[in-house]
Amino acid sequence: MNKVSLSQRDQQVIWHPYTQHQHSGMPIPVIRGEGALLFDDAGNSYIDAISSWWVNIHGHANPYIASKIYQQALHLEHVIFAGFTHEPAVQLAERLLKILPGNFERIFYSDNGSTAVEVAIKMAIQYWKNKEIPGRNKILAFRHAYHGDTFGAMSVSGRGLFTEAFQDFLFDTLFLDTPDGQHLQDATSFIESHASEIACFIYEPLLQAAGGMRIYSASGLDALLKTARENNILCIADEVLTGFGRTGRFFASESLSYQADILCLSKGLTGGTMALGATACTQEIFNAFLSDDRRRTFFHGHSYTANPIACAAGLASLDLLEKKTCIRQINTISEKNEQFLKSKLALVDPAIVINPRAIGTVLAFEIQTSRHEYINQSADLIRNEALKQGIYLRPLGNTVYIMPPYCITDAELEKIYEFLLSVPGLFRGN
Ligand SMILES: *Cc1c(COP(=O)(O)O)cnc(C)c1O
Repeated sequence: MNKVSLSQRDQQVIWHPYTQHQHSGMPIPVIRGEGALLFDDAGNSYIDAISSWWVNIHGHANPYIASKIYQQALHLEHVIFAGFTHEPAVQLAERLLKILPGNFERIFYSDNGSTAVEVAIKMAIQYWKNKEIPGRNKILAFRHAYHGDTFGAMSVSGRGLFTEAFQDFLFDTLFLDTPDGQHLQDATSFIESHASEIACFIYEPLLQAAGGMRIYSASGLDALLKTARENNILCIADEVLTGFGRTGRFFASESLSYQADILCLSKGLTGGTMALGATACTQEIFNAFLSDDRRRTFFHGHSYTANPIACAAGLASLDLLEKKTCIRQINTISEKNEQFLKSKLALVDPAIVINPRAIGTVLAFEIQTSRHEYINQSADLIRNEALKQGIYLRPLGNTVYIMPPYCITDAELEKIYEFLLSVPGLFRGN
């Protein structure tokens, strides 16, 4: 009797994210993970060089986080969070507020990065409504930004392929170029001239990730934040990706002099184990919702708000992150990336490897292919070649990048670097 494989069963019932099923290949059944490695059902292993869509920081199936999740599940798996509270939610909020850069006083929980952003922009919009200050009805964001896939998050994200089908349903957003060189003066004047209509300014500090791993200047962003603050524009730092060590610091905003009023977290928050989002805000924002008038209430919540198991995973992840060994691992990866960039990547023909760059544990470059129209095929080619070598990569178009879990070993990292140096060869004679 023929046994139907998991991939075949999957193809009958599953619709995968960001996948064109017309010509996507069979998905790889993963049966186990350990450290930076994923194991498939055929006995192959793959180094997870992108931390499973940027969420994993302590490695797969981490036994410490797993045991904390198990303990919490035996104790209290979930409870409605309106009118009830629990230790993991309060403790996680206390610990986050202690380490976040800025004057944050409150944490609002949700389910993922997109919802953390939805909460942030709804807080900012209603803040002005509650203050009875009219006219602040636009949101300012960067071109090439990515803030998530729900409607509000899409509306404040750069317009492109991902948002095209929904264009007519997205609200109008004011877009700025990231503040490098020439663009800084233009951006500052733009903010000043539109200030009275801007409710808030949302930004991914230092690194626009999904938009193509674009690194931009901290001093430029500081100048914009200064202008925004002077004009009473609420600032929203989307640290969904940059949080928890990704850019070398605990939070990317630590590299800035001006801090946000609202800050979004998810991805690394639970070490990549459970879905959880958190939106931090200042006392000033929170106070604007205190009223005898019920209409000033923040009417937002999700069934799984502050799920205790997810919060317990968040606490366990913070335990690990705050250990000296983890901080050392982040520094080591950052240094190795810098070194690889300078001593190896920079020496590759700049007509083939374009704009190599690194920030903390993230390293990226563009690959020049002679056939631009086949950009997605080049991503597939790189992905498939990497898989053959036991490495999992998922280029964004022609942007090749790595973002490994912090527990990755030196040997695993070297193997990834070696593969990256072989990438130009895949395109020779193209
Ligand atoms: C991934 C990401 C999001 C969306 O998070 P999801 O959990 O995928 O909804 C929002 N903002 C940034 C900066 C991200 O990188």
